[in-house]
Amino acid sequence: LPLVAICGRPNVGKSTLFNRLTGTRRSIVGDEPGITRDRIYGEVEWAGRNVRLVDTGGVVPDDEALIPSEIFRQAKVGLEEADAIIMVIDGRTEITSPDIELARLLQRGGKPLFLAVNKMDTAQLEAGAENFRTLGFKEVMPISAEHNSNIGDLLDAVWAALPPEFVAEEPEENQEGEDDEFDEDSYGPQSLPGAQEPDEDDEEAPRERKLRSHGEHVLRETKVAIIGRPNVGKSTLLNALTGTERAIVSPIAGTTRDAVDEVVERDGHSFRFIDTAGIRRKGKTTEMAEKLSVIMSRKHLEDADVALLIIDATEGVTALDANIGGYAHESGRSVIILVNKWDAVTKVGPDGLTLYDGKPPADRKAYEEQVRHALKYLDYAPLIFISALEELNVEEVFKKTQLVARERRKRISTGNMNRFLDSVDFQRASVPMNKRVKIYYMTQAAVAPPTFVLFTDRDVKLHFSYERFLANEVRDAFKFIGSPIWFKVKARN
Ligand code: GDP
Repeated sequence: LPLVAICGRPNVGKSTLFNRLTGTRRSIVGDEPGITRDRIYGEVEWAGRNVRLVDTGGVVPDDEALIPSEIFRQAKVGLEEADAIIMVIDGRTEITSPDIELARLLQRGGKPLFLAVNKMDTAQLEAGAENFRTLGFKEVMPISAEHNSNIGDLLDAVWAALPPEFVAEEPEENQEGEDDEFDEDSYGPQSLPGAQEPDEDDEEAPRERKLRSHGEHVLRETKVAIIGRPNVGKSTLLNALTGTERAIVSPIAGTTRDAVDEVVERDGHSFRFIDTAGIRRKGKTTEMAEKLSVIMSRKHLEDADVALLIIDATEGVTALDANIGGYAHESGRSVIILVNKWDAVTKVGPDGLTLYDGKPPADRKAYEEQVRHALKYLDYAPLIFISALEELNVEEVFKKTQLVARERRKRISTGNMNRFLDSVDFQRASVPMNKRVKIYYMTQAAVAPPTFVLFTDRDVKLHFSYERFLANEVRDAFKFIGSPIWFKVKARN
């Protein structure tokens, strides 16, 4: 479930809000001083969707001086884990410096943020919520947790910012190796279980079953390439990802190749960062560094499952970024776009207005639109705002890497594939009639990347808009988050 965190300094009404939303009394209001309460989790259903809620409010020491560090520690946990954050503030008091500090910290994290101005009990005070705009939040919602006012509006706004619901099929487990490569000769109807009788495919090929039981206890490893032009922060990110806090199993003894990979194990999953020496290598001149970055990116893509494409937020997407992004797309690797140095473009001063480079602090949504526009072909790639330097949102990189690694290995049964095909309304494809082909049935021939064979009436290359239409339909039905989708056409004789 998506996670929403509630942050704020003590006594602003976090617990009341938490209790209001979860309908529980588990979060004790006015706890014993001096005791650090555990973070409290609850579940909320709203608009047909369940979300996990965490109340980050611990009991903080009486000592005023210690308050900021405590709320910061908790807010950081929220930043790392949550999909969206609600900062609660007391609408009846002045903005305090811990509020400002906390707001700044949250704003640097790049997560969807909402400022709930609480204790707004009268119409007069609602107008007063406007005063809190100086904190620099886009979304400022006056609420009363106590009197249940405007809570629905708050939830509507938060829910709308959550990542789309994930309703894909379970990925196949442990089919390492043999299924990876798409073998030109092996996708004919004879070699595909069920391809000729689309309705009776739910039986798996014996070979697959065997592979699965073999691999049961193998630790899943994802090979990760960190790619991008010079100075976007590749080395800094590598340091953040392989940092000292984490269990690092490196370098792997053996070939020279292995000696420069670094492996990080987390949550029973291992991440192999490819050629870390190469990532740290710098060119002597700008021109050399740029050429080297393209060569390295291409080389690293060859060995990877997942590519982390880094964009420098202070510069936006450049031609060289687009070039490297294009290679990533064509390589068939899964891609995650990381907008790095987000801290630098979202700095907000005490006046709530401080500028980066003469510009107002960047807005997450608008920024994402620009990046997406410049990297259109990577529309399937998740995008994360991070600060490698301040280690903000770096945890999310591991999570998303694991997700896209799983997605690219997902296998859809031929039966499901053809039920899907029946449901597609091809009239909606804006493709000239003479470019259309009749698809009799389709089957997934390979994973990593998911590759589909279309059995058609004629042996022609798919028109690009037809391919795009079909890819979008497949994605709507089966997601394949982060991975390109490939098609092969096979004329049925
Ligand atoms: P690489 O050439 O892609 O490996 O880039 P580096 O990791 O060497 O970083 C280039 C410069 O950007 C260095 O001065 C870093 O300190 C800086 N940098 C990297 N990540 C961040 C970040 O998240 N925020 C800010 N403000 N600076 C960063």
